[in-house]
Amino acid sequence: PGVLYLVATPIGNLADLSPRAVAVLKGVQVIACEDTRHARKLLDHFGVRQRVVALHEHNEASRVATVAEWLSEGQSVALISDAGTPAISDPGSLLVRRLVDLGHRVSPIPGACAAIAALSASGLDSTHFWFEGFLPAKTQSRAARLQVLATQPATLIFYEAPHRIRAMLEAAQTHLGEARRAVVGRELTKRFETLVSGDLEYLAAAVQSGQIPERGEFVVLVEGAEPQETSAEASGVAVEQLLTVLLA
Ligand code: SAM
Repeated sequence: PGVLYLVATPIGNLADLSPRAVAVLKGVQVIACEDTRHARKLLDHFGVRQRVVALHEHNEASRVATVAEWLSEGQSVALISDAGTPAISDPGSLLVRRLVDLGHRVSPIPGACAAIAALSASGLDSTHFWFEGFLPAKTQSRAARLQVLATQPATLIFYEAPHRIRAMLEAAQTHLGEARRAVVGRELTKRFETLVSGDLEYLAAAVQSGQIPERGEFVVLVEGAEPQETSAEASGVAVEQLLTVLLA
């Protein structure tokens, strides 16, 4: 039977496509991609001439049966997205889940992922992190989501579109606190790559003033909340206080 390979592609710098990724792309029978024209440019650059089919959020569910059939016939398929790791804020997770349930072999060909690249160079705690991806675009829903995340003790990782980066940082400043340490990663792996560290107040102001331009691709990382007193600790204190009162 065939294998579904999840092949990570570059997030900007073409040299980040691994030799193994190229070999796998050249070895499969079909390459499923988000946008066939976008994919062709990458594939042409590497001399990959395989057949491409579109698999995006609007047809992912209906593609499952076709891909399953190809795999059963012994054809292998590679899934790529426009950039980075498929199924991470990109199509693929539904396809993978269904194929895993059907008992097909799914194999990752790892490579670039904007979230992990940014985290690794952020200087923020990377032992625990919460990948949030894109926040809702609407002000109210974004605020509600940030309020839920406000007590999360792990480093928070967000993706954001350039036309929303200013509003997102302002909302983060309001709901997570202006003094929270954060990092804005812009255009990672590309010519104008920048990573700017500071508290949320500083970073929101840096976008407002144009010091960080509202163009390109962004990852925003925010340090986690101060760990909350655990309920065991809190009740320990309460018992102690009660004893003090009773013994007085
Ligand atoms: N699957 C991709 C991955 O593994 O990172 C993410 C796809 S998501 C649709 C695209 C978002 O990822 C962009 O809007 C941006 O927030 C982030 N991103 C992608 N490339 C980036 C780069 N070179 N620098 C900074 N952020 C990037």
